[in-house]
Amino acid sequence: MELGFYMPTKVIVGADCVRRNADIFGIGKKALIVTGASSAKKNGALDDAVHALKAKNVQYAVFDKVMSNPTINCVYEGAEAAMEEEADFIVAIGGGSPMDAAKAIALLAVTDIDKKELLTADIGSRALPMIHIPTTAGTGSEVTPYSILTNHEKKTKASIGAPCLFPSYALLDAKYTDHLGKRTTVNTAIDALSHSVEGMMSARANIMADAIAREGIRIISSLFDKLIQGYLTRPDREQLLYASMLGGVVISQTKTTAVHSMGYSLTYFHGIDHGRANGLLLGEFTEYTERYAPSKVRDILSCMNMTSVGEFKAKLSRILGAKEKFEPEELEMYADIADAAGGTRNSFHRPERDEILGIYRKSLL
Ligand code: NAP
Ligand code: FE
Repeated sequence: MELGFYMPTKVIVGADCVRRNADIFGIGKKALIVTGASSAKKNGALDDAVHALKAKNVQYAVFDKVMSNPTINCVYEGAEAAMEEEADFIVAIGGGSPMDAAKAIALLAVTDIDKKELLTADIGSRALPMIHIPTTAGTGSEVTPYSILTNHEKKTKASIGAPCLFPSYALLDAKYTDHLGKRTTVNTAIDALSHSVEGMMSARANIMADAIAREGIRIISSLFDKLIQGYLTRPDREQLLYASMLGGVVISQTKTTAVHSMGYSLTYFHGIDHGRANGLLLGEFTEYTERYAPSKVRDILSCMNMTSVGEFKAKLSRILGAKEKFEPEELEMYADIADAAGGTRNSFHRPERDEILGIYRKSLL
């Protein structure tokens, strides 16, 4: 057996874990809180973080300009704020967008990288330490070393990744997700499912990541019907947040596959939420992979108590509802973009450009 596994983030899960672990907020002298425009102010996460910082007499400033699918300009603006404020650590609060932006800000606050080269440069090994507080149950970004940014030049999304971008701490309290709307709850849950399923279909899959992925898939699939009904209790939300973190641990080892690479165009050109974009493609890509790795796909399906990919596709379609409208011509361009993307090469069986187009067509037309 061969195995390598590195996930250095300290994970703490539980009710009121931010206030109960205020000591963690003493890791520096001044924090830059990186968050989105409004949700952290309403769900209690910002109040809790500020309470913890004050308890440790730590200064802070707030950068609350992170939009969904954060841009390169946004993270440079955030890094400017971190430097101006002389912040020596970052507290990220929000969904994947603020958490991803926070990682790039933590890097750019201490490393001089030209804006044009951010997505291709060697990003080195230095970044400010980070505490991440997720408020959606989907991306698992709190335990991954990736920051996904919108790249307008290439009209897609791309990631930067390096071990220095692992947060130091991830504090998971499901109460922040209590009032997430049905659409975001479903879309983020499907992102988390996709991470675990893709992890098992990745060229980098390994025995330990698979074991974690199976648990993530089991938990999320046990909530499929509740996601369809749109009613989740606090214990359900705790399970979802836990499973989302497990999915993040999986992709921190395996990376994502063609599904994510293909989904980015649906987000970039149609504004489709990230998790939903993956969900629209996940069934067909699983069917494609089944041809080359039938036992792996059987393993994935059995975690959901399913025996065929058809059953999986039908369930995903119930969860996601009616599809958006797509034109055949646009799918040609998306296939070109996904063909050039790293995630596609990271698939257990790499689809050729025309196979990618075929998966798009079957999924979306
Ligand atoms: P998001 O873009 O972070 O947030 C979506 C929306 O939900 C925003 O309007 C946000 O409002 C709101 N929101 C967040 N928490 C809420 C809460 N507790 N209650 C009510 N509303 C809330 O969505 P996401 O799906 O979590 O993140 C998607 C991003 O993560 C994408 O850019 C994707 O590429 C990336 N991603 C990263 C990784 C990784 O490993 N790094 C993995 C998968 C995906 P506010 O703006 O006001 O906060
Ligand atoms: Fe994702």
